[in-house]
Amino acid sequence: MAQVIEAPAYAGKSYAFTPYAPAQNFIGGTFRAAAAGGTLDVENPRHGRVMGKVALSTAADVAAAAEAARAAFPAWRATPMKERAQVMFRLKTLLERDLEELCWLLSAENGKTYAEARADIEKGIECVEFAAALPNMAQGGQIDVSRGINCQVTYEPLGVVAGITPFNFPIMVPLWTAPIALIAGNTYVLKPSELVPYGAMRLAALFKEAGLPDGAFNVVNGAREAVEAITDQPDIQAVAFVGSTRVGKLLYARGAALGKRMLCLGSAKNHILVVPDADPELTASTVVASAYGCAGQRCMAATLMVAVGDVQHIIDRMVPLARGIRVGTDMGAIISRDAVKRITGFIDEAEKQGGKVLVDGRGAKVDGCTEGYWVGPTILDRLTPEMPAAREEIFGPVLSIVHTATLDEALALQNRSRYGNGAAIFTTNGGVARYATERLEAGMIGINVGVPVPREPFAFGGWKDSKFGHGDITGMDGFAFFTHPRKVTSRWSVQSDQTWMS
Ligand code: NAD
Repeated sequence: MAQVIEAPAYAGKSYAFTPYAPAQNFIGGTFRAAAAGGTLDVENPRHGRVMGKVALSTAADVAAAAEAARAAFPAWRATPMKERAQVMFRLKTLLERDLEELCWLLSAENGKTYAEARADIEKGIECVEFAAALPNMAQGGQIDVSRGINCQVTYEPLGVVAGITPFNFPIMVPLWTAPIALIAGNTYVLKPSELVPYGAMRLAALFKEAGLPDGAFNVVNGAREAVEAITDQPDIQAVAFVGSTRVGKLLYARGAALGKRMLCLGSAKNHILVVPDADPELTASTVVASAYGCAGQRCMAATLMVAVGDVQHIIDRMVPLARGIRVGTDMGAIISRDAVKRITGFIDEAEKQGGKVLVDGRGAKVDGCTEGYWVGPTILDRLTPEMPAAREEIFGPVLSIVHTATLDEALALQNRSRYGNGAAIFTTNGGVARYATERLEAGMIGINVGVPVPREPFAFGGWKDSKFGHGDITGMDGFAFFTHPRKVTSRWSVQSDQTWMS
C-alpha cells in the first residue's frame, strides 16, 4: 500500500509545522491520484502555510469508488454481522494505538489543540464501540401473528452508501456514520472536507489494517464537483451529509429528487438561556468553555446567550474567564484566512450597530505562529435579536449576548431561530428547567450543560434548518438510516382452518 502520510515531525510531538505528501483517494484498498489530476493546497491554520495538497476528484473518481464499493458489497453483506463486528473491535484498538499520532495530525490540518483533537478521536472511538455492539442490539424480531403463521423482521443493508463531512471534526464525524453503515453490511464512500483530508487518509489505512475487505471503505477527496457526483451517482443508495445548512439543504433536495435516502445535518445558532437563580460559577465557566472550545468551530457551541433578567453578576464572571484563555495554547486556530475575515466582520458590524464589545479577540497573535489564523475569545453584549451576530451562525469564538425581561421572551426568541440544533438552560430550579425544556425548539437540550452532545447510545441530531431528513445520524436511528427492514411471513404447519391469513 502506498505510504500517503509522511509526517516526520510526530516524533517532535509539538505544534511545529509539518509538511505532508499529497492526500490521495483510497479506492478498492489502494491509494491513488485523482483521475483528472487536479489538486488543492491544504493549509496548516496554525502557521498559515501550505502543508500539502489534496486531490480534487471528478465524477470519474466517484464512479470508480462506487464501482469498488459495489464490487465489495456481495461478500461483505454475506459476512455474518458478528464477524463484521470484529473489524470494529480491531479498529478501536488501532485508533487507540495511534491516538497520539492522530491527535497531532488533526491539530496540524485543522488547527485545534492537542486536547481538542484527542476529544475528537475519543468520541469517534465511542461511535466505533457502539457499532461493534450492534450485533447485540439489532437482532430484529419475530412473533407468531396468527395460528401457525410467523412474522419476522430483519434489517438489510442498502448497498453502497456515502458520507460527506465538514472540516471541524475530521475523525469523529466520519466515524458517526461509517462504522454503523459498515456493520449493517453496506459498503461506503467517504468525501471528507477538502480542508482536512489527512485524518480520513489515516482512517482508510486503519480500516484496512483492521481487516476490512478492499472496496468496503473508500475515500474520494475533493469539493463541490465530487459531492454532486456522489449525490447523483446511481449506485449510491443513501447519503449522510454533515456541514452547513446552505449546502445540506441543496443536497437534500438534489438527492431526494433522485429517490435517494438523504440525511443532511446543517448549521446552528445555539441559544443558552441564563436565569438569575443560575449557579454563577458553574454557569460562567460552562458557558465560556462551550463558546470557546474548538475556537467556537463546532455546531454545538454556545453562541447566543440569552440573559434573562438581571444576570450581570454572571456576565461579570465570564469576562475574566474569557480574557484568561491563552490563544494558541488553550484555544486553537481558525480554519482559514476567509473564516477569520467572516468572524471579525460579524464583530465589526455588531460594534457599528451599537453592540458592546466586552472582550475583543480581533487581531489576536500567537508567538511563533504570526502567520496563523487567529481570533481570540470575544463577548458581544447588548445586541438586539435582529443583529446578524445574534441571528446568524458565526462559527468562531464569539459569544453574543441578548437580554430579555422574562423567560417567556427568551423562549420566544429561541423559537424564532431558523436553527434548532442545541439549546440550554442554566438554572438551579427544576421547575424552571422543565418549563424551558418543554418549550425549547431544539434536538439536543442541556440543563446546566453547555455542549449537550448526547453520548452513545443516545443519538445526535437537531431540528428545523439544522437537519434535513428523518431521524438522527447516530445511535439506533443511524442503523435505521442505513438499513431497510425486511418482513417475512411464513407458514410451516397446516392450520388454515384456524388462521385468518391466506
Ligand atoms: P460546508 O458545508 O462548507 O462543507 C461540508 C462539506 O460539503 C464538505 O465536504 C465540502 O467539501 C462540501 N461542500 C462545500 N460546499 C459545497 C457545495 N457548494 N456543493 C457541494 N458540496 C459542498 O461546511 P464546513 O465549513 O466544512 O463545516 C462547518 C459547517 O458545518 C457549520 O455550518 C457547522 O454548523 C456545520 N456542522 C454541523 C454539524 C451538525 O451535526 N449539525 C456538525 C459539524 C458541522
